[in-house]
Amino acid sequence: KTTADNSIFENLESEVRSYSRGWPTTFTTASGSWIRDENGKEFLDFFAGAGALNYGHNNPVLKQALVDYITGDGITHGLDMNTVAKRELLESLQTNVLAPRGLDYKVQFPGPTGTNSVEAALKLARKVTGRESIISFTNAFHGMTLGALSVTGNSMKRAGAGIPLVHATPMPFDNYFGGVTEDFQWFERVLDDSGSGLNRPAAVIVETVQGEGGVNVARAEWLRALAELCARRDILLIVDDVQMGCGRTGNFFSFEEAGIVPDIVTLSKSIGGYGMPLALTLFKRELDVWTPGEHNGTFRGNNPAFVTAKAALDTYWGPDTTLPAETAAKGAKIEAAFDELAAKTTGVSHRGRGLVQGLVFEDPDHASKVCSIAFDEGLLAETSGPSDEVVKLLPPLTVTEDELDRGLGILAEATVKVCS
Ligand code: PMP
Repeated sequence: KTTADNSIFENLESEVRSYSRGWPTTFTTASGSWIRDENGKEFLDFFAGAGALNYGHNNPVLKQALVDYITGDGITHGLDMNTVAKRELLESLQTNVLAPRGLDYKVQFPGPTGTNSVEAALKLARKVTGRESIISFTNAFHGMTLGALSVTGNSMKRAGAGIPLVHATPMPFDNYFGGVTEDFQWFERVLDDSGSGLNRPAAVIVETVQGEGGVNVARAEWLRALAELCARRDILLIVDDVQMGCGRTGNFFSFEEAGIVPDIVTLSKSIGGYGMPLALTLFKRELDVWTPGEHNGTFRGNNPAFVTAKAALDTYWGPDTTLPAETAAKGAKIEAAFDELAAKTTGVSHRGRGLVQGLVFEDPDHASKVCSIAFDEGLLAETSGPSDEVVKLLPPLTVTEDELDRGLGILAEATVKVCS
């Protein structure tokens, strides 16, 4: 899905080795659920920055907050300084997100991206426990730097690094064996077997829904059993909510439905709200062991992103938020459309939660053909999963019913064409 020989950028790429996504056009402007290319063609964007644009492109409320901040000479770069923008974001996070959920987390700004948040989580878990290894899951995706890549279960991505840095052991994700419930027996057995090469791990890192891994949904009871196992065995539980957080699955945090409270939570992508780089690492108060400067970096304090992040939390996550109910209703609409589609085609099924929904093709070729037809008809969606066999829909949470109908119509027509 990314290519080095996209014809439009061929010359450029041979010079700079920048790999572009395989959509054969060049984009110019975007608003809401729509993105336009330089030929004036409009596309519904159900890719939405791989989950970085939950409030749509150029959301007008967030844009105004940013414009006001910039025209008022607000600080754009402040390293680790205390700034009003930072304070206001932390206050908004506390009042709109953490306090109403009874969550008592400290906040670290780990660096600009999701990967940085994962690195911070792994570092912190190792420092707190004095242990080294990490448990991850089959088909997990946590990022591209050495630590995050070590817990990523995608062999193509891992091959980019040679030998991973962190000792990580992948365990079967929920439903890996097709619905049997023995996963944790294996898990416990490995933990008890100190001669197996696995020392007691510092942490378990998990996504509640594996986005890059193919929209694999962990059941709430599986997540509860995992959290219980971690607590019983004194292993820290990290939920990587970089892609599924900020309302993607319905609630602000994707783990809320399971009623679990992770020790550490990673957030990025849509936390900045406006598509600008920002990441947070949340951790329980008692895990606050870093001395000042032990984890720092030049671009951790992205003040314009603090401003749009605060505007997003104030606008969408206040006490009267309607976003979770809307997300559930829109998700149900996609599921109903996918049910219908699966019934009238062959080799097609679906899975998902809220506004992350995957159309699963027995033949991965069919998934890429469907995406390519959808592109021609004006819909952007990308494939995910170990063989790129899943067409993953991540529309902005602000997508309208009409836009959803139109996108689903394009996808249905393409799927019928390819799979009847
Ligand atoms: N964790 C998860 C669950 C992700 O989906 C991603 C990005 N797809 C990352 C971490 C890495 O985030 P980033 O690309 O911002 O570094």
